[in-house]
Amino acid sequence: MHNAVSRRVARRFVAGETLHDAIEAGREVNRAKRSASLDLLGENVSDEGGARRAAENYLAIFDRIAREKLDANVSLKLTQLGLDLGETHCQELLEGIVAHASELANFVRIDMEGSAYTQRTVDLTKRVRVKYSNVGTVMQAYLFRAEQDVKDLLSVGCRMRLCKGAYKEPPDIAFPKKADVDANYVKLMKLLLSSGIYHGIATHDPAMIQATREFVRERNIGREQFEFQMLYGIRTDLQEQLVREGYRLRVYIPFGTDWFPYFMRRLAERPANLVFFLRNLMPKSTRPHSE
Ligand SMILES: Cc1cc2nc3c(=O)[nH]c(=O)nc-3n(C[C@H](O)[C@H](O)[C@H](O)COP(=O)(O)OP(=O)(O)OC[C@H]3O[C@@H](n4cnc5c(N)ncnc54)[C@H](O)[C@@H]3O)c2cc1C
Repeated sequence: MHNAVSRRVARRFVAGETLHDAIEAGREVNRAKRSASLDLLGENVSDEGGARRAAENYLAIFDRIAREKLDANVSLKLTQLGLDLGETHCQELLEGIVAHASELANFVRIDMEGSAYTQRTVDLTKRVRVKYSNVGTVMQAYLFRAEQDVKDLLSVGCRMRLCKGAYKEPPDIAFPKKADVDANYVKLMKLLLSSGIYHGIATHDPAMIQATREFVRERNIGREQFEFQMLYGIRTDLQEQLVREGYRLRVYIPFGTDWFPYFMRRLAERPANLVFFLRNLMPKSTRPHSE
């Protein structure tokens, strides 16, 4: 984290270390006619004080979004709110944030983490969703269980973000082959967009996006009934194109000092990013000419 090259390369995916940086990035995204979701980086918090501080930070982020009149909601992780320490306190902190967001007519997205947390995330989301409508979570198409979870959460009217999944999962619980993940993604996208509930289709994959375009055209689903979502710094060309075509698009903007695990996931899912990173680690004079 203290290596200058890591920090520089990470800045491609992370808006900066402060809330000010995230607000600036949010403004820029809004100027480009896209919504934002601000994510204060942090996960696997191991003490109650850390979890409480994260929750307080989220309350302040919602206040700042309102003050700045930013078109942005918030994404957070339950392990950042101390899920590893127990569900009760984590739920209390989450409810405090969701209640505050509700007063400000805003929305809380609960990111989905590794499979050790799937069931607890689904359960906690459902418990909070019965009290508040401005909360939703994420489904990972690589998990065999995702279809059942989608149906379960649709039954309580929950908004979902569909993604492929970013964690390394074993083959007994997740599709090992990309083709199978993609097929499940399309299946779940159809299930979600047929529900009449507002969901997020989060992907940079042109094939997933095309399948979505075709499905909504066939079914006459309006462009205001769902949104595409992409990560900050990734496929901005495609982001621009979707906005030009009149689709809604939300950009996920991570920020904060705890950027290392997020950065590693972005490197891991795309070999070209790793090559770019490794090239930058080499002194300029020894880099291959192809750069
Ligand atoms: C808004 C949003 C929120 C997310 N939230 C979660 C979450 O809560 N939990 C979770 O597990 N995962 C989450 N993810 C990550 C997701 O699961 C995938 O790991 C990630 O989006 C890559 O999958 P893809 O659909 O873009 O398709 P892929 O098939 O992986 O990629 C398709 C194309 O997208 C581009 N691309 C993809 N990733 C990168 C990258 N890192 N750098 C550069 N180009 C890239 C490339 O052009 C690639 O060819 C989220 C993704 C998005 C967009």
